[in-house]
Amino acid sequence: MKNFSPSTLYPKNVDLTNCDKEPIHIIGKLQKRGYLVSCNLQNLNITRYSEHIGDIFDLNHIAFFEQPIHAIFEKIDIDILVILDYLKEKKVVYQEVVINSSKFTLIAHKNELEYIIELEPNPIHIDPFEYQLQLSDIATQINEKDTLQDKCDYAASWIKQYLEYDRVMIYKFDADWNGSVIAESKENHLESWLGLHYPSTDIPQQARKLFLKQGVRIIDNVNSDPVSILSSEAMSEIPLDLSNSELRAVSPIHIEYLQNMKVGATLTAAIVINKSLWGLIACHHYSSRFINFYQRLSCKFLTQIFSTSILLDSKNTVLDQIKNSAKVRTILIDQITQEKDITLGLSRFEYTINDLTNATGAAIYIDNDLTLLGSCPEPARIKELLEFIKTSTPDIIYYTESLSEHFPIAKSYKSIASGVLCQFISKTKKDALIWFKPEVIQTVNWAGNPEKTVTVDKDHKLSPRKSFEKWSVEHEGKSEPWTDQEIAEVVSLHKNITDVIIEKYNEVRELNAKLKMAYEELESFSYSVSHDLRAPLRGIDGFAHIIKEEYFESLDDFGKDSIKTIIDSVEKMNALIDDILEYSGLGKKQLQFRYFSLPKIVNEILPDLKKLYKNVTIVISEDMPEIYGDRNITGLLMKNLLENAMKYSSKKEEPLVTIGSLTKNTFFVKDNGIGFNMKHKKTIFGVFNRLVTDEYKGSGIGLAIAKRVVDKHNGKIWVESLENKGSTFYFNLGTHE
Ligand code: ADP
Repeated sequence: MKNFSPSTLYPKNVDLTNCDKEPIHIIGKLQKRGYLVSCNLQNLNITRYSEHIGDIFDLNHIAFFEQPIHAIFEKIDIDILVILDYLKEKKVVYQEVVINSSKFTLIAHKNELEYIIELEPNPIHIDPFEYQLQLSDIATQINEKDTLQDKCDYAASWIKQYLEYDRVMIYKFDADWNGSVIAESKENHLESWLGLHYPSTDIPQQARKLFLKQGVRIIDNVNSDPVSILSSEAMSEIPLDLSNSELRAVSPIHIEYLQNMKVGATLTAAIVINKSLWGLIACHHYSSRFINFYQRLSCKFLTQIFSTSILLDSKNTVLDQIKNSAKVRTILIDQITQEKDITLGLSRFEYTINDLTNATGAAIYIDNDLTLLGSCPEPARIKELLEFIKTSTPDIIYYTESLSEHFPIAKSYKSIASGVLCQFISKTKKDALIWFKPEVIQTVNWAGNPEKTVTVDKDHKLSPRKSFEKWSVEHEGKSEPWTDQEIAEVVSLHKNITDVIIEKYNEVRELNAKLKMAYEELESFSYSVSHDLRAPLRGIDGFAHIIKEEYFESLDDFGKDSIKTIIDSVEKMNALIDDILEYSGLGKKQLQFRYFSLPKIVNEILPDLKKLYKNVTIVISEDMPEIYGDRNITGLLMKNLLENAMKYSSKKEEPLVTIGSLTKNTFFVKDNGIGFNMKHKKTIFGVFNRLVTDEYKGSGIGLAIAKRVVDKHNGKIWVESLENKGSTFYFNLGTHE
């Protein structure tokens, strides 16, 4: 008979440098306690068997690989075909059998090519009724525990009591697959491992994958050598996948690891939440220990109940948090809508953005204005941080729980802000909302130095570490992490704010349109009113002149004065109407841009003004550049500035008005007249705002016209003045190349 061992397919030199790639599911070996035999799915001929199968079958008389499976099982009075028939519907079939007067559990499953039959001795008898009562009691108790910790503590203690291992641990994985013991039940004399952390290399990724497939596994005796599985010639190149096997041998490296820990037997049950490995129930015994198949099944069942219970609790907690933060978010958005101001809405009232997450501080940076809530870094630091965030991600959201790792300057305020979550309001990254979480200094106790998970012996062989002595590492500069839910809330808040902004923008657009209409109506109204006033005014003026010319001498002094006042007032009124018409007419004017000479315009205006203010000297700078704008209305601007300059300096001894340019876009009209207090520098550009009495004629509209002309060009006008010394009015008509 020819024996082919599939161990040729399993790499010979698996060590710690490549153990994460070790194909442990095709290890080709079996734990010694049980037996394996497999056969072809079609012809039922035997394809493989474990090398010690002669313990239960009479090997000497049978050439194994030439036999159909039922032939050898017939010899021990087992109708294997009936059992295998069940595998048409089920994934696993198990049955109690007696072989040579010993009890076994027969466990059968199949893969694409073969039926795999495992036989595990089962000396343990369990009363099924009592067993069921126990299980349902445990299931109820788990569900009744309120907190995750209570559930874990309870689970650890019932498994300890029920399966009688020396140590039972609930082991939880973190995001990097490092694990920590979060609950433990143990024999009193053993040192506690509660709170200890284990590096991810202790359970390599392919082992974690196997846990997902096969919920509960035991090693009944760490120190017994595994047995090989022999294959027929036809199957020798096809590895046997033992992923679903109950008896699969364990990686030699794992065995060495357990031996280093002095562990004699283990049971491991996978805690699977949302289809991924959340943690393990890990049982250690310091001598060999066997748990039968049915106990393992119930352990699997209870672990599932435990996993579901944790999942439900965490879902409920998350739901509560979502409900709470959704409430806060709705209130914040209402506040923003009512206040019509994002910063006020997010910071002024009972609820602020600091209530949206578990942050301890928050900042709002809008329109270059920084508002701080709770515990935040200095404003200058926050601005600096925002500049860093802007350039460090193309996204409009950024978060980290260890800021100083990415932005070393932040070390100085790590106690306030090791965690940062920043949401920019728009893609321009100008405005932002930021949340801060403080540093939480953590002491992580590792089971042995996590940097030294291997040791090198004198033959230069790498072995799993031998020391499991507590090794403490302090973690600095880290905050509590930002949860998915916190990030989701911030993203939702941002979306809500954007919606409000868009809504407000539309409102503003509508209001603008209405304002424009109202403005136009007002302009045509003031135009028609002013226009309509002209006719009666002309009538009054005509009659007043007739009275003056025909009846003046016959009037008494009061009558004479009254006629003069009427004629003066009419003149004033006419000037006012002229100005108002000019002012309101400006709104409608379409500008026609071109370059032209300002001195030329001045020279056109000057003759009329000279008649009124004869004594004023006018100096026009010679090297003035051409100005770009609408020539007609720029004439109005110059007329008003020039007239004011001459009017308000005319009573001085040597009145002087200079017209010139400061730059190629900025022009000025300067006088040495009465000047005014600079506190009026803005109001004088409003309509009817006069700083003088009737001593100086005027309607109070001139500068409003000047400003309107400049505004229509998108330019700027401003003044510098000193009482009794004079004023200089500067303007530009926008910047043009
Ligand atoms: P007004 O018709 O009264 O001149 P304006 O609108 O042109 O109206 O000017 C508003 C006010 O600004 C004036 O009443 C005057 O008090 C002040 N003002 C304007 N220009 C000058 C100037 N060049 N020197 C001093 N005061 C001035």
